[in-house]
Amino acid sequence: MNTIGAPGADALARLRAMQAADLPVHGGRTLAYVYDSGLPDVDRIGREAVAAYAGSNGLDPTAFPSLLQMENELVGFAADLLDAPPEAVGTVTSGGTESCLLAVQGARDSRPDVDRPRMVVPSTVHAAFLKAAHYFGVEAVVVPVGADFRAVPDAMVAAIDEAPERTVLVVVSAPSYAHGVVDPVPPVAAAAAERGIRCHVDGCIGGWVLPYAARIGREVPPWTFAVDGVTSISVDTHKYAYAPKGTSVLLHRSPEHRRPQYFAHADWPGYTMLNSTIQSTKSGGPLAGAWAVVQSLGDAGYEQLTREVFEAVDRIVAGIDSIPELRLASVPDSTLVALVTDGSCDAFTICDEMAARDWYVQPQMSYAGQPPNIHLSVSAATLAHVEELLTALADSVAAAVAAGPVSVDPGIAEFIAALDPAALTDDDFDGLLVAAGLVGGEGAGLDLPDRMAEVNAMLDLASPAMREALLVAFLDRLSRPSRRA
Ligand SMILES: *Cc1c(COP(=O)(O)O)cnc(C)c1O
Repeated sequence: MNTIGAPGADALARLRAMQAADLPVHGGRTLAYVYDSGLPDVDRIGREAVAAYAGSNGLDPTAFPSLLQMENELVGFAADLLDAPPEAVGTVTSGGTESCLLAVQGARDSRPDVDRPRMVVPSTVHAAFLKAAHYFGVEAVVVPVGADFRAVPDAMVAAIDEAPERTVLVVVSAPSYAHGVVDPVPPVAAAAAERGIRCHVDGCIGGWVLPYAARIGREVPPWTFAVDGVTSISVDTHKYAYAPKGTSVLLHRSPEHRRPQYFAHADWPGYTMLNSTIQSTKSGGPLAGAWAVVQSLGDAGYEQLTREVFEAVDRIVAGIDSIPELRLASVPDSTLVALVTDGSCDAFTICDEMAARDWYVQPQMSYAGQPPNIHLSVSAATLAHVEELLTALADSVAAAVAAGPVSVDPGIAEFIAALDPAALTDDDFDGLLVAAGLVGGEGAGLDLPDRMAEVNAMLDLASPAMREALLVAFLDRLSRPSRRA
């Protein structure tokens, strides 16, 4: 414990020591969660801007006018990028989830006449929209996607028309997280517009990179405000704008579309609360970090980074061809790649083997008849290591073939598949977590096995509801305070 007056060198040294156990955020070898430009100077500028504004409060733009200026400039940059009309407006939020939540909240509150609001989403929509449905009491009508993992316009429209008067929002993705494909935005947006319904395009992950992909001559399906009927777009600066964590932009076609997003409350004895986001007091750090990174890179920088990331994607796609046990789940429209196996080896084992080779790739569970697969969010920084990545993948596949498929004892499999999470007690969960190898016995903390394939294979057999319940129980057990006494 530091005493006052002793600078916090000890605390910082301990921070760095703890951080060494985390996934690396630089180096291009972590292919989910982090997005790496590979430009140390840009990262440094972002970090310094975050630090300089760590104590500033975005609660009141009149008290911190520089934050208002940065927000207007960042939203303006995004609006230019996304073909927004002159009257478009936007808000910088804390991340993709907050942008998606506010898109749903705004759509709901734009229709106070509707008693039981509903929204129509494709089955590939990001979980943030299901969270919004849960938080805001909006019914989510989930429409299966086609064999190419894209939303099916006729099916989306049919779902709207089951109750058009109650439908406040339709959502499509550009691109979807799991498969990296762009939904057919024009027909869905047109149908929504005809019926006076809002249409949100979730460009959280691809929204900053797809416009530059189009500029460098790649085929990009139409999805921006250039498409009639698109009323709002979310785009995360903390993903492919390569900014520090903590910002996303939510754009609206007009001020009228944004209006219901504001919350004001004057009827109490304190300051008049006036918020455009869910947070009230909020650090100016993330906004300053995003602003500084976007100013530093500019259009020319992003165009270059986009060339690099797509060169990496193209080389990965070509390289997969020479690994016969792997194939693409779909041809990526963007920088996200999903890989499935031919059944001779197990996707979860490949993820473990990659981790043993210092590559983080993300396991995705089976869903709606699709087998488990491997997700890669490719960054510009990955380009320098793409041959190593392909070698590691080939070696990992060979090791996974040699190891054979992960087997879950059929008795356990049957047991898990039959479990009803609603009927389980806390003690049952404790037993299951220990049996699954997710926690050690008796109050042990984070005790994950080095190899997760067995755990993942077991989770994959559970129903989604059971998997949710098990992982919530797991997180709950992990998240317990460290008391001083
Ligand atoms: C990442 C992501 C989100 C949610 O963003 P967070 O920043 O993780 O809150 C929403 N939609 C898509 C398509 C995403 O990839």
